[in-house]
Amino acid sequence: MLLDVVVIGAGVGGIYQIKRAVEAGWNALLVEADDDLGGTWYRNRYPGCRFDSESYTYGYSFSPELLDEWHWKERFSPQPENLKYLNYVADKFNLRPHMRFNTRVKSLAWLADEAVWELDIGQGERLRSRFVVSAMGPLSVPTLPDLPGMDTFAGRSFHTYHWPKESLNLAGKKVGIIGTGATGIQIIGAIAEEVEALTVFQRRPNWSSPLNNSPISEAEMQQIRGRYPEIFANCAASPSGFEHMPDRRGFHNLSPEERRAFWDELYATPGFAILAGNFTEVHMDPQANRELSEYIADRIRQRVKDPAVAEQLIPKDHGFGMQRLPLETRYFEAYNHDHVELVNITTSPIECVCAQGVQTAEKLYELDVLIYATGFDAITGAFEHVDITGRDGQLLKDKWHNGPQTWYGLMTHGCPNFFMLAGPQSASGAANFPRGIEVSVDWVSQLIEMMMGDSELRCVEPELGAQEAWVEEVAQSYAPLLLSKGKGWFVGYNSNLEGRDGTTNRYPAYQGGGARYAKLLNAATQANYEGLRFGG
Ligand code: NAP
Repeated sequence: MLLDVVVIGAGVGGIYQIKRAVEAGWNALLVEADDDLGGTWYRNRYPGCRFDSESYTYGYSFSPELLDEWHWKERFSPQPENLKYLNYVADKFNLRPHMRFNTRVKSLAWLADEAVWELDIGQGERLRSRFVVSAMGPLSVPTLPDLPGMDTFAGRSFHTYHWPKESLNLAGKKVGIIGTGATGIQIIGAIAEEVEALTVFQRRPNWSSPLNNSPISEAEMQQIRGRYPEIFANCAASPSGFEHMPDRRGFHNLSPEERRAFWDELYATPGFAILAGNFTEVHMDPQANRELSEYIADRIRQRVKDPAVAEQLIPKDHGFGMQRLPLETRYFEAYNHDHVELVNITTSPIECVCAQGVQTAEKLYELDVLIYATGFDAITGAFEHVDITGRDGQLLKDKWHNGPQTWYGLMTHGCPNFFMLAGPQSASGAANFPRGIEVSVDWVSQLIEMMMGDSELRCVEPELGAQEAWVEEVAQSYAPLLLSKGKGWFVGYNSNLEGRDGTTNRYPAYQGGGARYAKLLNAATQANYEGLRFGG
């Protein structure tokens, strides 16, 4: 059977895309490798896992009824509640009948004669579809370190993405954790008081600042409901898809005392205010960034009792905001417990994992549970794991060997009728994901709608020149930013993958902001989809 649309992935993007497809009356199917929906909120079940976007800015905006019905209970909603929300959405709009679980797409090939995609979904089964929308997710391929003896550990060990589904009681356990990114920092704050002993194996510290979470009462939720149009308008107008807007008074127009007073306010403000509501100069001007970094370092020194430990927690190799900022709850206080130990594995490297635990150059750490919070093959990882063969017979992953090349992160030359949500080089990667996802789904749906009604428009793909221009625009968006010199996944860094030490110029996410992205995309769309080539 020939389908109109196949959507790959049942996360935040895929759920909205299948809704639009079903509503439009297309013959559409969503396929999902996991055994249920939810994507990132299905997989990441670790303690402390929650939004760091304000909940009411993260939820879908497309249904006034849904906005009216749903009560976000916390300003930064936790994973179980988020998964409940996505299930509620899927059930409310009766989307489950259009989803097929336990179905991993192994390969995709464009059949030029028929102008359709053929998808190998394993066990000899194939699907054919005119359009394919990838909603595979930017953080869906976990990466592990390559340490000797990892498979010999006698206790339980797993990557955070594979946190056991059944509840795991950590009380009374000796727990070790490798990695102090956003995930590790959430877990450490959440479990420190519960476990018997916690050993944190840290290679490079990350900057982190308070999440400042709080409950949302029924009365507050009523106010939020009344403000939804304004909230989504604010998010659309901001660079990062939040309500926080950059402060444009000018860093240098204020005295050091005024700046510190402002940062005191931001430090106590919920969410990403300290980053997205700060002076724009802190992202670009080394002097401004140094002063802010020193301010945050002082906050860490105030919160961590042992000065030597505090110094180990203060990054020295990059400034504040030069890598994706983790937001924390009681993270720094965790190190004030006697049973929590910070191990610097830069100075005392891990030699191996053994049956009892982790052996560093200096000591054996005996453990019951070992958690790998070691991150993801971010943004392009999912595209490495599916063989996508386009019009020219070349594998997409080979073409992207030195970095992704896309048109607005939505399409790529040589792959007709293939769309990506929160794709490489879109604005979603560096912002509040769902806000960018809704822009993409709406755009993709509008284009498919137009093509469905016109037999002259069988195929669409970006012109090579237009794609090159977008790749250049993305590269330029990094140029003024200090984060281009950081070692984080925003620049494609992942020490567990070959050639990804952060020194090669990979530009995985558009850094020019969601508002500018939407403006440029709109302009191209209004100009008769300038940059796209349609074929009969
Ligand atoms: P990450 O930011 O990439 O951090 C990985 C951590 O593991 C780093 O501390 C890294 O150290 C360490 N590591 C990696 N390989 C290692 C090795 N071989 N040996 C020792 N240490 C190693 O990954 P993440 O914390 O999972 O976060 C990824 C992204 O997920 C975030 O940036 C965020 O976008 C998203 N996330 C969001 C939330 C939320 O609040 N909504 C929460 C969690 C995650 P080095 O720095 O030295 O490489």
